[in-house]
Amino acid sequence: MSKKKFLLEEEQLPKYYYNIAADLPVELPPALHPGTMQPIGPNDLEPLFPTELIFQEVSKERNIEIPVKVREVYRIYRPSPLIRATGLEKILDTPAKIYYKYEGNSPTGSHKPNTAIPQAYYNALNGVKKITTETGAGQWGSALSYAASIFGIDVTVFMVAVSYMQKPYRKAMIETFGGKVYASPSHHTNAGRSILSVTPDSPGSLGIAISEAVEIAASNNDTKYALGSVLNHVLLHQTIIGNEAIQQFEMTGDYPDIVIGCAGGGSNFAGFCFPFIGEKLRGGKNIRAIAVEPSACPSLTQGEYKYDFGDTAKTTPLIKMHTLGNEFIPPSIHAGGLRYHGMAPLVSHLKELDLIEAKAVTQNECFKAGIMFAKSEGIIPAPEANHAVKAAIDEALLCKKSGEKKIIAFNLCGHGYFDMASYSSFLNNELIDFAQNENEIQNMRA
Ligand SMILES: *Cc1c(COP(=O)(O)O)cnc(C)c1O
Repeated sequence: MSKKKFLLEEEQLPKYYYNIAADLPVELPPALHPGTMQPIGPNDLEPLFPTELIFQEVSKERNIEIPVKVREVYRIYRPSPLIRATGLEKILDTPAKIYYKYEGNSPTGSHKPNTAIPQAYYNALNGVKKITTETGAGQWGSALSYAASIFGIDVTVFMVAVSYMQKPYRKAMIETFGGKVYASPSHHTNAGRSILSVTPDSPGSLGIAISEAVEIAASNNDTKYALGSVLNHVLLHQTIIGNEAIQQFEMTGDYPDIVIGCAGGGSNFAGFCFPFIGEKLRGGKNIRAIAVEPSACPSLTQGEYKYDFGDTAKTTPLIKMHTLGNEFIPPSIHAGGLRYHGMAPLVSHLKELDLIEAKAVTQNECFKAGIMFAKSEGIIPAPEANHAVKAAIDEALLCKKSGEKKIIAFNLCGHGYFDMASYSSFLNNELIDFAQNENEIQNMRA
């Protein structure tokens, strides 16, 4: 079977990130200061982030240059391949063409280094010596730990307790790159201690871990904070994925009808899809973009679109997003990277403008799709990535029914080689499907 990979030459590596704020038909609602309820300004963010990232957070410039030093590090693993999934097409017996962009070749196995590297770089440029952060499944913690080690910065990671136990090798990976890891909630912060006093065996959540990391950064002058998803500048850095994909599609002679990404905080979905949506907004092809989330944590499909805090202790600015409520603690599903109560404001905004679609799927159907992909394509996807695989398969099967030869492209945002325990659970029929029911979500909000 011939496997088609589309790779760019080194000199064709994108020189710019794509900022969708430049092309939005309606401006993004601003983040608000929780005290004054006024839009936050650069001064409010300065204790937490370096100047350049604050600038990028609010920029309306369409193309933002990627610094030369960042491009040098990207060259270790970029461009990532765009691959025609001929094996998957064959077992599905679909007339559709399926392509995937593979981000699992990065140093830590996911798309996360795409933003960890520039974030560490801009912090180093500002003379920052320490960074705190949170991590769900451990993907972000390991990516930041790797990137910070390149630029000589110390990292402390608050890792969601359930993942700390489920994914010991992710913890070891963070430590290998020199990062320090605490299970969250922890005894190291007020936020952590107050949760533990009520719920000593709390499985933790990204919302809690963010509170802990922000608390340390806000109370120490030499320490800044970094977030691995949700914020505009994070989504911006991830657009290198879609920018590359657009160039690679030129080599294939195809252009997607449907682009798909899984969505936790929204960064890999945005990174892959926004450049295509941008072309559509500027008069290009009318593609569909689908964000796929777990039915156990369905912020885009069932959350309310409103101003909410990004964290559980209510310390962050208020951001307008689809949210299940900042106190929502999702069930302990294996796609740990998708257990966030909210969604990136930009992704939420596009959903409100009907520029993207959203869909929720259960973990068993995702693992089933992931195993079909592994057998036919030879890569075992991360449990998070399986959400995108599942949606791509669904679309390809619809094409089989209708006979349409659509071109379906999805982002395979990471490999699952540190997640084999979850594959074992699935293969042993031990995975439980959680679906949030509308009433329970209403009660949580009350
Ligand atoms: C972190 C992570 C996600 C979820 O985060 P997004 O910001 O929604 O991309 C998804 N997949 C993988 C492999 C991750 O590491």
